[in-house]
Amino acid sequence: MKIIYLHLILITISLSNSFSQKTKYLYTPKEVQNAYKNDTRTQTGEPGKNYFINKPDYKIKASFNPETREIIGEETITYSNNSTDSLDLLYFNLYMDFFKKGNTRDWDVGKTDITEGVNITKIIVNNNEIDLNKTGNNSSMLVIKPKNKLLPNSTNSITIEWNFIYQGKTTVRGGEYGDKNFFISYWFPKIAVYDDIVWWNNHGHTGSQEFYNDFGNYDVEISLPEKYIAWSTGILQNADKIFKDEYITKINKAKESDEIIHIITTEDYAKNNIFKTKAPNTWKFNSENTPDFAFAISKNYLWDATSVLINNKRISINTAYKENSTDFKQVAEISKNAIKFFSNEIPAIAYPYPQFTAFNGGGGMEFPGMVNNGDNTSLNETLYLTAHEMGHSYFPFYTGLNEQKYAWMDEGLITFFPQLFVEKFTNDTNYVFFKNTLEGYNKSANSFIDVPLMIPSDNISKYAYRFQSYTRSSVAFYELYKLLGKEKFVAGLQLFAQRWNGKHPIPYDFFYTFNEIAGEDLAWFWKPWFFLMGAADLSLGKLETIDNETFINIENYSGFPVSIKLTVKYTNNDEKKYNYSSSVWKTAKTFKIKLLNDKIKEIRLDSETTPDAFSENNTMIFK
Ligand SMILES: [Zn+2]
Repeated sequence: MKIIYLHLILITISLSNSFSQKTKYLYTPKEVQNAYKNDTRTQTGEPGKNYFINKPDYKIKASFNPETREIIGEETITYSNNSTDSLDLLYFNLYMDFFKKGNTRDWDVGKTDITEGVNITKIIVNNNEIDLNKTGNNSSMLVIKPKNKLLPNSTNSITIEWNFIYQGKTTVRGGEYGDKNFFISYWFPKIAVYDDIVWWNNHGHTGSQEFYNDFGNYDVEISLPEKYIAWSTGILQNADKIFKDEYITKINKAKESDEIIHIITTEDYAKNNIFKTKAPNTWKFNSENTPDFAFAISKNYLWDATSVLINNKRISINTAYKENSTDFKQVAEISKNAIKFFSNEIPAIAYPYPQFTAFNGGGGMEFPGMVNNGDNTSLNETLYLTAHEMGHSYFPFYTGLNEQKYAWMDEGLITFFPQLFVEKFTNDTNYVFFKNTLEGYNKSANSFIDVPLMIPSDNISKYAYRFQSYTRSSVAFYELYKLLGKEKFVAGLQLFAQRWNGKHPIPYDFFYTFNEIAGEDLAWFWKPWFFLMGAADLSLGKLETIDNETFINIENYSGFPVSIKLTVKYTNNDEKKYNYSSSVWKTAKTFKIKLLNDKIKEIRLDSETTPDAFSENNTMIFK
């Protein structure tokens, strides 16, 4: 059988002079319109001249008891109010109130994990102690009224003392894995984000929707019982006080080497000669300008380390895993390749943290410079999961995205481009890039859970959340990638990241930045995929003859821009493939493709590598 590929070059007319005016036709909520009026943002996708971001720096001292799972902590937040507003109320996320008796939760956590929630024992704001009887709780938020308002452009000191029982049986983004191996996340009172869009982001946390974080420096001390090793999102500051010299030598060697060094092995645990002292240890970690802090502990996990050179800087890589893990022995090497992939290919921005740590807990969850990942049984899954969670270092972390409102901004991108990494490194010759995601899309597109991406994630139900955040969004990004080509798509990500690194971009900043890179108003693409009800659905229309030429009409009733992949088989056994970019749908809902005048056996629109909610109208067979 002979296959002929017809390459059709479409000439796009540059609309660069008019696109910035046209973008105003994108539906824009009042809150965002106000940001333009206030000059905190612009309709070019750049931060405005009045843009601000507040900054909390955390100094935390805490202890964790793995037997009782009690965390006792004390923190001082140095909080810079960089807004022009006086803040008369302060909101804090107490994420662990997810487990509090009586609180709303998106899923059951079992009776044994229900707690009294976070017990706040002291709050001092700028030397004034707060009357704890006068604080408020709303879902997982704590709200307090300081004696004096926090003034514009002021630096403030907030001290909080607290304790709570960390989750036991439930493993969600953290928890206990096996016997006394813990990943500890969302464990300290965290001041909410006060931004230029909705001011205080104070919806609280009920499980599905993720997080929204300001950037700050973390200086964290954690006291643990003897024999435990701790890893974290930060850099360990006192390794020399904790480990015997032979381990320090190995740790330092890994920081300078591409080789994978086994820092702690099963034999090391058996020798029981790892630590300098027999007493409990206090672990000191630092991180700079990061959006969160998490840590993990174990007294039997194996620890591998290596490093990778990116732009003349070595990034440390650590993996901590159970001895019988199915795949974690490979994760240090995979992580090295993934850091190179993200740094050099997509988004082609140097990996933003000095280290990366993969802890073998469960599921898959991202933290800045750290992930909590379960075991996988196939190489493809390990490649994907490692790259997915690491990719979040850029989105949401590097770019400060609001996952509570627009979960698709990070999950959509990070569902899409790690698949390019898997495609590159998999040994599986049958691997079809993006196939599973498209299957998921085609199954549920145009159903009740298929809601527009611009409906804020915190205003949709848990049932629609996954499809919206991961599936529809990544398919939209995949179509955008095909439309723009890799070079422009990467340039768009880079410009967006450069404009918004360490800030809080919203979808409009993304759209306008990509308009600039595309050199045209992409509203025709943004509207259906991001703002409207509906789904991708091409169908075969009339086969017609005009002036002795044969044409097939491709119909796009929903108007969702998707690329066209058409295969026509002729009775003489010729097979021709016709490929068009989604730009054919810019103005039209019908597109004519000229076929050969040979007798046709079959016409088929692809619905395996093209999103299509209804594939039953994709085939014509002639007898
Ligand atoms: Zn994710």
